[in-house]
Amino acid sequence: MHLSSICVYCGSSNDVAEKFKVSARKIGTEIAKRGACLVYGGGHVGLMGVVADAALAVGGSVIGIIPEHIRAKEVQHDGLTELHVVPNMHTRKRMMVERSSAFVILPGGFGTLDELFEILTWKKLSLHNKPIILFNQDGFWDPFLALVDRTIEEKFAQPSDRVLFQVVNSVEEVMDALDNYQAKPETGILTGRM
Ligand code: AMP
Repeated sequence: MHLSSICVYCGSSNDVAEKFKVSARKIGTEIAKRGACLVYGGGHVGLMGVVADAALAVGGSVIGIIPEHIRAKEVQHDGLTELHVVPNMHTRKRMMVERSSAFVILPGGFGTLDELFEILTWKKLSLHNKPIILFNQDGFWDPFLALVDRTIEEKFAQPSDRVLFQVVNSVEEVMDALDNYQAKPETGILTGRM
């Protein structure tokens, strides 16, 4: 993999089905095995904790970025390569984007939805041009994809917006998408505009 750091957005709930944890574990392991750094929200809860632990377990580097006020709620991970405690959510999200060369979105809750929409809209606005890979495990994201279709059908978005992100259905496809990503010449965040 030539992408040096992969941001994973995913759920913070511990109560989810084991199948989601199994996939998160595999993704953390595979990212680390490829020598890429994992960037994530810095907590030790839900799929976030699983993905980080898996990467660390095979000797990977993991950067966590967590806002001060949710350090306790999301159980700040104390075993990370780097943990950045930041003043607020906006700083967290901006830093996560700046420190990453690609984004993988696993199933998650409102926070993950927020992160997905933000990373997509920032790409649409040319604030970055990094790959966005949506892992549609067991059709989790089908309602979102249907909404994207409707949005395009009603002309609130353009058919060309579909290429802003890539949809994959298995852990293997997530890794293939990262392994085979071809950087475009203008790739890179346009800092100062966010
Ligand atoms: P969730 O998908 O709701 O379980 O949350 C996943 C992660 O997204 C957690 O680390 C949340 O702190 C984070 N999150 C929730 N809301 C926001 C937000 N508005 N901006 C940035 N991160 C958020």
